Amino acid sequence: MAVQTEIKTYLNYINGSWVSSVSNQVEPSLNPANRHDIVGYVQRSTLEDLNAAVAAAKQAQASWRKRSGVERGEYLYKAARLLEQRLDDIAETMTREMGKTLAEAKAETMRGVHILRYYAGEGARKVGDVIPSSDSEGLMFTTRVPLGVVGVISPWNFPVAIPIWKMAPALAYGNTVVLKPASETAVTAAKVIECFHEAGFPNGVVNMVCGSGSVIGQGIANHPDIDGVTFTGSNAVGKQVGRAAFERGAKYQLEMGGKNPVIVAKDADLDLAVEGTISGGLRSTGQKCTATSRVFIEKEVYEPFKAKLLERVKQLKIGNGLDADTWMGPCASESQLNTVLSYIEKGKAEGAKLLYGGKRCLDGELANGFYVEPTIFEEVNLQMTIAREEIFGPVLALIPVDSIEEAIRLANDTEYGLSASLYTKNIGNALQFIQDIEAGLIKVNAETAGVEFQAPFGGMKQSSSHSREQGQAAIEFFTSIKTVFVKASE
Ligand code: NDP
Repeated sequence: MAVQTEIKTYLNYINGSWVSSVSNQVEPSLNPANRHDIVGYVQRSTLEDLNAAVAAAKQAQASWRKRSGVERGEYLYKAARLLEQRLDDIAETMTREMGKTLAEAKAETMRGVHILRYYAGEGARKVGDVIPSSDSEGLMFTTRVPLGVVGVISPWNFPVAIPIWKMAPALAYGNTVVLKPASETAVTAAKVIECFHEAGFPNGVVNMVCGSGSVIGQGIANHPDIDGVTFTGSNAVGKQVGRAAFERGAKYQLEMGGKNPVIVAKDADLDLAVEGTISGGLRSTGQKCTATSRVFIEKEVYEPFKAKLLERVKQLKIGNGLDADTWMGPCASESQLNTVLSYIEKGKAEGAKLLYGGKRCLDGELANGFYVEPTIFEEVNLQMTIAREEIFGPVLALIPVDSIEEAIRLANDTEYGLSASLYTKNIGNALQFIQDIEAGLIKVNAETAGVEFQAPFGGMKQSSSHSREQGQAAIEFFTSIKTVFVKASE
C-alpha cells in the first residue's frame, strides 16, 4: 500500500474565515474505490461551532437582505465563474470521495455552474403581483421577503449540485446560509465553499459546518435562530428534521426517497427502453433519488426486453470512476455497499429470482473498494422488500404486466412518488400515464433520472414535504409572501 504523504485538512467556514472546530477533532474522508486512499480530513464539529456559524449568519442577515436582488446576483455570477474554472479539480475530488465516474462528476459540477447563473439572474425577476382591491382607491399587491437564516442539510449523492441548488436560491432571495454537508463528501463541499469565499460574499452570508448528522444536522433542525431548513436524504432522517422544525415554527422542506418505476409498453422502442432503464437504474451505481428501481413490462415484450437488457448489462465496465473506460463506480461507502448487499439477500430469501449479478466485486483492485455487480431480479411481487423499500443501489426488479392500466396501478402501489417514466409510441398510453401516475417528475420515452435545473423538482406522497425545488418554484420555499394594501390619507 502506497503511503500518502500529504493529506490536507479542511476547515469549517464561519463568518468569512476558515476555522478549526473547537473540538480539535477531525475525521478522514475515504475513497470508496480504494479504502486506503484518504481524500482529506474534515472537522468533527460541535454545537458550539454551529452556534458561531448561526450567529454570524444572523448578524449578516440585516444588511444582506437590504441589498438589491441584482447586487446579490453579482456574487452568484462570480461564484459560478470560479466553480467553472475549478471544474476539473472539483469533479475529480467528487469522484475520489463518492465514486461516481469522472464524466458524471464533471457534468454535475457544470450543472452547479448553470444553477448559480440561473439564480444570479433571478435577482432581477418579479417577486409579486398587483391584485385588484375591492376598494377602488386602494392599491393591493404582494411582495416577498427572505426567511432569514436558512440551514441546508445535504446528502452525498450529488455533493455539488444539491448544496448549490439549495444555497443559490436561498442567497438570491436574501437569506443567509449555514450548510452542513454529508460527512461522506465534506471535502467536495469545502471546495465548493471556497468558490463562494473567493467570490467575496460578505462575512457571515455563507457558512459551512462539518460534522455528524446527529449533532450538526439535528442541531440545525432544532436551532431557534434558523428560520428555514432545507433537507435532502433518507425518509427516516427527513421526518425527524421536519418534526423538529415544525415544533419550533420554522419553515422546512424535505426531499427524500423514491421507488421509481419504468413502464415498457408493447409498442415501445425496446432499444430506447433498455438504454433508459440501464441509464436510469444503474448510473451512479443506482444512488440517485430518481433512480429506476421497478420495471413493469407488457407481457408481449417481456422476453425480448429481458434478453436485450441482459445483453447490455453484461457490457457495463465496473471500476474506479477516475478511469476513462469505467461505466459504473463503487457504492459511496462501505455501509451503503452493505445495505445494497443486504437488500439483494432479502430479495433472494423472499423468493425473487436473481437473473444477473448480486455479488460484491472482489477481482483484483476492486477488492479494495466497495463495488457491487449490477443486479437484476425477476419473479418479483410487490409485497417483497426489494419492491417496496428504497435500495439506493444498482438493483432492478422486472415485473410483467397485462396492460398499461395494470402497470400504472402497480407502479402507484408504493409509499413513494418521486419520478416515473413510460416507453411507448402510443399517445393514448402517454396521456393516460401523465394523468394517472403518482409522481412529481414524469417522463415519456426518457429515463426516470435527470432533473433540469430550470424546472421544478420534487415528489408526491412520502417522497417529499410537497414543496418544489429548483427553477422559479424555489421562491416558494425561500421567501415569505407579504400581502400589502395601501391607501392615501387626507
Ligand atoms: P441520511 O438521511 O442519513 O443523510 C442525509 C443528510 O442528513 C446528511 O448530511 C447527514 O449527515 C444528515 N443527517 C444524518 N442524521 C441526521 C439527523 N439525525 N438530523 C439531521 N441531519 C442528519 O442519508 P444517508 O447518507 O445515511 O443515506 C441513507 C439512505 O438514505 C440511502 O441508502 C438512501 O436510501 C437515502 N438517501 C436518499 C437520498 C435522496 O436523494 N433521496 C440521498 C442520500 C441518501 P451525515 O452525512 O453526517 O450522516
